Amino acid sequence: MRALVWDGDKLALSSSYHVPAADDRMAVVKVNLAGICSTDLQIFKGYMGFRGVPGHEFVGSVSEGPRDILGKRVVGEINFGCGQCEACRRDLNRHCPNRSVMGILNADGAFAEYVAVPAVNLHLVPDKVSDEEAVFTEPLAAAFEILEQVQLDPGDQVLVLGDGKLGNLCAQVLRLTGASVTALGKHEDKLKLIKRTGVRTILLTDWTPRLFDVVVEATGSPSGLELALSAVRPRGTLVLKSTISDNHDVFLAPVVINEITVIGSRCGLFPPALEALEEKSVSVTPLIEKVYSLNDGVDAVRHATGQGARKILLRA
Ligand SMILES: [Zn+2]
Ligand SMILES: [Zn+2]
Repeated sequence: MRALVWDGDKLALSSSYHVPAADDRMAVVKVNLAGICSTDLQIFKGYMGFRGVPGHEFVGSVSEGPRDILGKRVVGEINFGCGQCEACRRDLNRHCPNRSVMGILNADGAFAEYVAVPAVNLHLVPDKVSDEEAVFTEPLAAAFEILEQVQLDPGDQVLVLGDGKLGNLCAQVLRLTGASVTALGKHEDKLKLIKRTGVRTILLTDWTPRLFDVVVEATGSPSGLELALSAVRPRGTLVLKSTISDNHDVFLAPVVINEITVIGSRCGLFPPALEALEEKSVSVTPLIEKVYSLNDGVDAVRHATGQGARKILLRA
């Protein structure tokens, strides 16, 4: 099959990569669309030391696997738990110490014609949700993860730092709680996109220091953390969403002095994301910049790496 392969040094299209095989645990999905995410770009900078086929945002149809889902349109959770350990028994395969992660850790991903996924990780895509929407399920689930971790009440003042794809999705999801959400970013065009969803926006150059109950750091850059920290009210909450391959160098005294609760937040559950897509309570397709053929995947990644690119998709 065709697949984009990262060898630790460069990304190249292979036309003869082995097709994954199904077994009693793994199903095989024929990929329709895959999304390039900032985490993929971090991988190409060395994040996780990954080798193989990247890609963890996808929608496709089951080509091999349990009969009841065969041929069905699916999306898949990306953490492959062992199924045996304490974390897995508590339904937290996202934290299984023996997990592999699709396209990130010890498992090939979705920048290919076919991808293997544990059948238990797959979720059916409702008919009303298009492929172009469904491919956002994974990053949208990551935004919903915040609501699993932080109790937000109507009227809470929330700041989302970062106007990229994740910042956009986080702002939209947090707004569903009735909280008062403000997005702060560097890019006028991206903020405009967020503003259209009903979220208040502030351009970084217009920022005057203010305090919020909850601040979500989703800039994807180490420098965002300091500003985020300075905008949390005493006893407030800071949610860290960016995965960055560089080390953070940050002065932690404000965390102690202001008794700030710091929460790391990563992958989330798919059902709330699929439900929001079905109800159209969030809007994701305006985030799409361009759809490339998998054959042009190297160009697609180059495009995604460019300053200010929105979501780049690959059609397998
Ligand atoms: Zn991602
Ligand atoms: Zn486990």
